[in-house]
Amino acid sequence: MTVSQTEAAPAGDRTDPAADPRPVLVTGGAGFIGSHLCRALSDAGHRVICLDNLQTARPSNLKPLEDLPNFTFVEGDIVNPLPAAVTEAANLTRIYNCACAASPPQYQADPEHTMLTNVVGTNHLLRLAERTGARFLLTSTSEVYGDPEVHPQVEGYRGWVSCTGPRACYDEGKRAAEAMTFDFARMKRAEVRVARIFNTYGPHMHPDDGRVVSNLICQALTGRDITVHGDGTQTRSFCYVSDMVRGLIALMESDIDGTEPVNIGNPDEFTINELLDMVLELVPNAGKVVNTPLPQDDPRRRRPDISRAQDVLGWSPRVPLREGLPMTAEWFAEEVGAELRLREAAE
Ligand code: UDP
Repeated sequence: MTVSQTEAAPAGDRTDPAADPRPVLVTGGAGFIGSHLCRALSDAGHRVICLDNLQTARPSNLKPLEDLPNFTFVEGDIVNPLPAAVTEAANLTRIYNCACAASPPQYQADPEHTMLTNVVGTNHLLRLAERTGARFLLTSTSEVYGDPEVHPQVEGYRGWVSCTGPRACYDEGKRAAEAMTFDFARMKRAEVRVARIFNTYGPHMHPDDGRVVSNLICQALTGRDITVHGDGTQTRSFCYVSDMVRGLIALMESDIDGTEPVNIGNPDEFTINELLDMVLELVPNAGKVVNTPLPQDDPRRRRPDISRAQDVLGWSPRVPLREGLPMTAEWFAEEVGAELRLREAAE
C-alpha cells in the first residue's frame, strides 16, 4: 500500500504553490506522521525539503517520494547546526517541526537527546523561520497535560506533569518548546502555530515503535504474547494519520492567532482493553494476553476537547477507529510478513 492510498486529500491546504514556489521544510519528515505530511504537501504541488536524522524513522516511508522532482531528502539532526542544504535553500515558506521520537520507550532511550531536540532543535528552526520569514508550526503533544485531572483536555488546562519522572524529557521538553515558540510570536520574531497532537496511528508506524497500536497489532500478527500494561482500563483516543495530516495543514494555513495552541486528535475514547478486543477481532489465532506493569507516570486517561479546532479550523476527524484499525493492521501484515519472509530466507 502506498502513502497516497491511505490518505484523504489535504483539504486544509489553501496555499497556492504556483503563486508561492518557496519550499516547505518538514523536519522529522521520514518518520510516521512526517512522511505522510511530506506526501500530502508534495501531492499539492509544493517543493518539499525533508530533514531527518533517521533515529527512529523508517527510510522506506520515503520510497514513493524519492524520485519526485519536488522532493529533497536531507539527513541531519536539528540539535546540530542546520545543514547547508537547508539553510541555503531559497527562502522557505513554511516549516513544520515534526522532529522528535514520540514513543515512550524510544524518547526515554536517550532522554538528553529528546530534551535537546525539543529545546535546542526548536530554537534552531525558530531562528531559521525568523531569518527566512517562514511560518513555523510546532507539533506539540497531549503529553503537555501529563496525567490530566481535567477531562477531556481543553487547551486552557495547564496540565499535571511530573518534572522528575522518566516522561519528563518529552513532556517538559515539549512544554519548553511551546514556551519558546510563543515567545518568538510575542516578540514578533516569527509567525507561529502550535498543534497539540493526541495519540495517532496508521501505516508507516515502525513495527518496533513500542506504542500500543503497533505493539498489539504486530504481537497479534506474529503470535507473540500481547502486552497490556496494567489492567488495561486506562484510556486513549486514537486519531488516524490522514485526519492528523489534514488537521496540521489546516492549522498551518489558518489565519488564527498563533499564540493559542490547538488540540488535534480524535475525541472517541477507548480503554486499552477495548482496543485489544478490536485487534483480536481482526487477527485470528493471536497469542496469549499478558498483563505487564503499568509504566511510571502512565496517564490514566486522555481525550482531546477539539472545540477550538472545529470552530477555528472547521476541522474534525473523519476516520473512526473501526475503519482505521483494519487499514493499519493490513499494512502491518504486509510489513511484518515481509520481514518474517526475509528472516526465513536468511536462515
Ligand atoms: N500500552 C500497553 N501495551 C503496550 C504499549 C503500551 O498496554 O504494548 C499502554 C501504555 O501503558 C499506555 C497506552 O497503552 O497506557 C498508550 O501507550 P502508548 O505508548 O501508545 O502512548 P502514550 O499515550 O502512553 O504516549
